[in-house]
Amino acid sequence: MRSFAAAIAVLSITAPALADALNIYSQRQPELIQPVIDAFSAETGIAVNVAYLEKGLTERLQAESARSPADIILTVDISRLAEAVEAGVTQAVESDVLAEHIPASLRDPGNEWFGVTQRARVVYAAKDRVADGEVTTYEDLADPKWKGRICTRSGTHAYNLALVAAMIHHHGAEAARAWAEGVKANLARKPQGNDRAQVKAIWAGECDISLGNTYYMGLMAGDEEQKAWADAVRIVYPAFESGGTHMNVSGMAMTAASKNATNALKFMEFLVSEKAQEVYASINHEFPVRDGVARSDLVASWGEFTPDDANLMDLAGLRGQALRLMEEVDFDG
Ligand code: FE
Repeated sequence: MRSFAAAIAVLSITAPALADALNIYSQRQPELIQPVIDAFSAETGIAVNVAYLEKGLTERLQAESARSPADIILTVDISRLAEAVEAGVTQAVESDVLAEHIPASLRDPGNEWFGVTQRARVVYAAKDRVADGEVTTYEDLADPKWKGRICTRSGTHAYNLALVAAMIHHHGAEAARAWAEGVKANLARKPQGNDRAQVKAIWAGECDISLGNTYYMGLMAGDEEQKAWADAVRIVYPAFESGGTHMNVSGMAMTAASKNATNALKFMEFLVSEKAQEVYASINHEFPVRDGVARSDLVASWGEFTPDDANLMDLAGLRGQALRLMEEVDFDG
């Protein structure tokens, strides 16, 4: 009898605890978000389960439909956020906290997705082979003076497609195509590997400049093997001739299937708290979306730049066109 009563007691404790858990599908790498998740659990006592998905986030949510255990998705790139919204696997969230701390340009007008951090897509330049001021614009990467000197990951990766979308936004499809052809003609090797692999190639002398997202400089600097790669390059913020430096976001959304909207909202609001934004800035070397949170010392050391003013939703809308263009010029071929 006693053990039965004890079992009931355990159940009554366990049931609310389970209901308190929060499930996240993340396309962000574990080491990038675990510190923030740990801080959230420590502050709220809410247990967080994270499933890391390389790709296919939207497809999985569609397949699981209302049975999905996920409450939150974390991903990078506006195209992936827009894709999830378009597929109907997210839900709108009304929150004064999110509206106050995330600039309007970095969240969905319909409140389905919210930017958490920003990153710039920049040029990594060999310290010893590229002079100061030698590269200042994205357009310049198509100049024949760079022949055999540029490395990049696949032209159809989301990061590069967003950049091409921005090129279309500024100059139109024909000019963007000519640009992509020009950059392709300047490549030192076929597109391959990730952003960090390009910096390694610069370090190894295979090329002189590469395209990459800013935070990888910080991640390489903190890695024993990769530190030498980072030391071989400096960050250059190129600008569009008629604009600024290309920016993208990492972001979050509440799933349509969430069974725990209260905790999900708590988590979303935590991610824009000063504490979480500081973690993103100091550990991940991303740009905080929240005003007043300082950049990491390393990021600050790269100096100031003018962010491009292209609207993220406009870039998401141009993604299909950018993909067709890159396939037509056979950028990776
Ligand atoms: Fe990345």
